Amino acid sequence: MSQSMQVSRADFDRVMMPNYAPVDMVPVRGQGSRLWDQEGREYIDLAGGIAVNSLGHAHPELVEVLTRQAQQLWHVSNIMTNEPALRLASKLVAATFAERVLFVNSGAEANESAFKLARRWAHDNFGPDKHEIIACSNSFHGRTLFTVSVGGQAKYSQGFGPAIAGISHVPYNDIAALEARISERTCAVVLEPVQGEGGVIPATAEYLQAVRELCDRHDALLIFDEVQSGMGRTGKLFAYMHSGVAPDIMTSAKGIGGGFPIAAMLTTDRVAPALSVGTHGSTYGGNPLGCAVAERVLDIINTPQLLDGVNERSAQLVAGLRTLNDELGVFSTVRGQGLLIGAVLSERYQGKAGQIMRLAQSEGVLVLQAGPDVVRLAPSLIIPEADIRDALGRLRSALLKLAE
Ligand SMILES: *Cc1c(COP(=O)(O)O)cnc(C)c1O
Repeated sequence: MSQSMQVSRADFDRVMMPNYAPVDMVPVRGQGSRLWDQEGREYIDLAGGIAVNSLGHAHPELVEVLTRQAQQLWHVSNIMTNEPALRLASKLVAATFAERVLFVNSGAEANESAFKLARRWAHDNFGPDKHEIIACSNSFHGRTLFTVSVGGQAKYSQGFGPAIAGISHVPYNDIAALEARISERTCAVVLEPVQGEGGVIPATAEYLQAVRELCDRHDALLIFDEVQSGMGRTGKLFAYMHSGVAPDIMTSAKGIGGGFPIAAMLTTDRVAPALSVGTHGSTYGGNPLGCAVAERVLDIINTPQLLDGVNERSAQLVAGLRTLNDELGVFSTVRGQGLLIGAVLSERYQGKAGQIMRLAQSEGVLVLQAGPDVVRLAPSLIIPEADIRDALGRLRSALLKLAE
């Protein structure tokens, strides 16, 4: 019955909540960096499910580990622990600054956990006045009430009642602004090492270093939101590794499950005790299916060959975009790190990122936007060279239509 029921994009407007405006095609199958819709049309996927499908669609090793785990054990809750969670946590600890891991189900939930941890840690060690969180303008940290309050885009928190108090925002990459704001009341400073939704803007290494020093001077925790920038996306396992500046708390989601919903919050032995037994939790967090898949994702991504490959593909894609731009002059700059790339629209094409996304789709290539003025690309970390070449050709056709 459920298999034979015919559905189409029109059903979305009838039965789904109106908070999304999905494109007009419905994908039904994916393989590597290609997707096919209900009509059998093929697309090259440079969107990657918004930086989630880190190993493309239907990666054979992920399919294998997911189906094997599905036959063994799906869910036990946190009344028990499980082997995939313990293995994944051990590998994350071995690969990063962290000594402790909490598994949750989304980027927002990982950040929610990070902010609660920071406040509780400061409360327990310094008292209730030390609860202020400083975040960056234009940052994005998720859609729960706490995370939209911390996020630096007012439009996401407006109209949802009083925002959570004790949060302020400073311009990104501006150390003087942070220095002026931070105080003994600050419990945490949170930032994305590469702002994703905010326009694909990397932090400078000097900024991260100076933020670290300010946090240390004021006994504030440094939180890196690596939900989008982590898991190989920038050419290192986590973006903080480019600068050598380690945070006290880090969140990971999106790419960590390669498309299976799982997220993690990582921290140190110094900070972790603040979430003692009973202070926090999540029914599905650390679910064996998600952890088994993420363990394999981590095994595959955290190798020099794969990470070098990200940098090679990045160079190919950026060079291709610049060549397109020499011809068409649509971008003022191409920025980003690794395979998180933002092509900033030139003056003449400002505000047209959404239109470019739709034109690209009709030419058979899927791209993202990051605000109205930036075309964002976040393809599979193992996208074949030939797919990049084809995708650039299709993008060229789309941009030619834009110019018409
Ligand atoms: C996507 C994103 C989030 C939110 O993740 P969800 O899984 O959608 O809750 C948080 N922070 C950053 C930097 C993101 O890119």
